[in-house]
Amino acid sequence: MGMPSCREVYGLRTSGELERCSWWLRMGASLHMAMCAHCRRLARQLEAVGAALRGHLAKPRGDLSALRRRILDRLSRG
Ligand SMILES: [Zn+2]
Repeated sequence: MGMPSCREVYGLRTSGELERCSWWLRMGASLHMAMCAHCRRLARQLEAVGAALRGHLAKPRGDLSALRRRILDRLSRG
């Protein structure tokens, strides 16, 4: 059994299946992450998106309606 591919590592990490995988697959995935620049960059991007999304959701509702008003205002002015 070789090291899992980028696609396999990505699928396992995003689905949360990695926690339920055998130890050698977890080992292979973390080894892959340590060695693969592509996957490290992807993981950083996913974390950034997740943090931005959490920050957005954490904001009070008032901010959202103000944002919607600004967008509508901008759209109506073309
Ligand atoms: Zn990779």
